[in-house]
Amino acid sequence: MRYEDFLRRAPKVELHCHFEGSIRPATVLALASKHGMTAPTSDADRLYDYERSDQFFELFGFVAATMNDAEDYARCVYETVEDGVLSSNLRYREMFFNPTLHTRNGVTMKTILEGMSAGIEAAAADFGVPVALIADVYRSDTLACAMQMLEELLEWRCPALIGLGMDGEEAPDPPEKFAEVFARAGQSGLRLTSHASEDAPPANIVTCLDVLGCERIDHGYYVLDDDETLRRCRDEGIGFTTCVTSTVKAYFTPVLADHPIPAMIEAGLLVTLNSDDPTMVATDLGEEYVQLCTALSYGPDVVRRLCLNGIEVSWLDPVDKTAMRQSFEEELHSLEREMSASARRDRPSAPKTDRDSDRQTMEEFQ
Ligand SMILES: [Zn+2]
Repeated sequence: MRYEDFLRRAPKVELHCHFEGSIRPATVLALASKHGMTAPTSDADRLYDYERSDQFFELFGFVAATMNDAEDYARCVYETVEDGVLSSNLRYREMFFNPTLHTRNGVTMKTILEGMSAGIEAAAADFGVPVALIADVYRSDTLACAMQMLEELLEWRCPALIGLGMDGEEAPDPPEKFAEVFARAGQSGLRLTSHASEDAPPANIVTCLDVLGCERIDHGYYVLDDDETLRRCRDEGIGFTTCVTSTVKAYFTPVLADHPIPAMIEAGLLVTLNSDDPTMVATDLGEEYVQLCTALSYGPDVVRRLCLNGIEVSWLDPVDKTAMRQSFEEELHSLEREMSASARRDRPSAPKTDRDSDRQTMEEFQ
């Protein structure tokens, strides 16, 4: 077994994956056709070609607009879970979605949640992989719009809906804008997280923790810029849901050794690996592990830590966490033994251990 196969087959939890950013391009085109919409291209391989972040957000909105009835939502949810399972040995996901990108097109919250729940149930039945939902406030929305979204979510609340998050462009709309929405969500028993300090100062992390009451931080790379925030997040065990490919493309150097994620791991933060918008940035969860772990020559010990961090940072209850931890430990141990056995049989395929000689750039792997 090659080391890349070990990384793909390692059991994984995913805590930062956007539903709308994880739809198969062929499905987007099929749904657009079903509803009489004109897609930017009829070529599925080129649908997710974009250059700038504003084009990304436009495309993200288009994908959301192709979903219209409960069957559309059920299909899309089922397929994204299937993709995670087949590509990456996904075992549990807490998945973001942006309700207002759908309701603004006239789709009701009831339809969205019923459709997504049906897809979640079908995927759980076929793959044994549970999925929970985190509804994201879209930062460019008004406070009133976000509050109305929350009220509708609470009215049509389904068992899968466990949390509230926040995404969209960070710099123009700081987190405190939505403090009232987070307060109401927290009082209603939803768990809280937020994209923060992805492209803005670490003060946004502090605001999310102290003003919004967030339990974890999505991205959070600029935590490295402030010693006090860094120390606090480490000491309090704040989880960070980081993403390699999407941030390399948008913000950081293609040389992964220089990406903030390795430094965050080195600093002792509770880091998890995630795919963000997998189909839109042409990655998957397993590929995120391959990219980071091969570029940094991370051995199985670090891989184990990253996999187990996913469980630790998740909002599973303690009993489920313990069971999943045990199952992951056993599976990782078995995969390691299989990898060692195949390395003995076939030396050239053994994982390298020389950190310097193994360091490679993103381009070499693409
Ligand atoms: Zn994200």
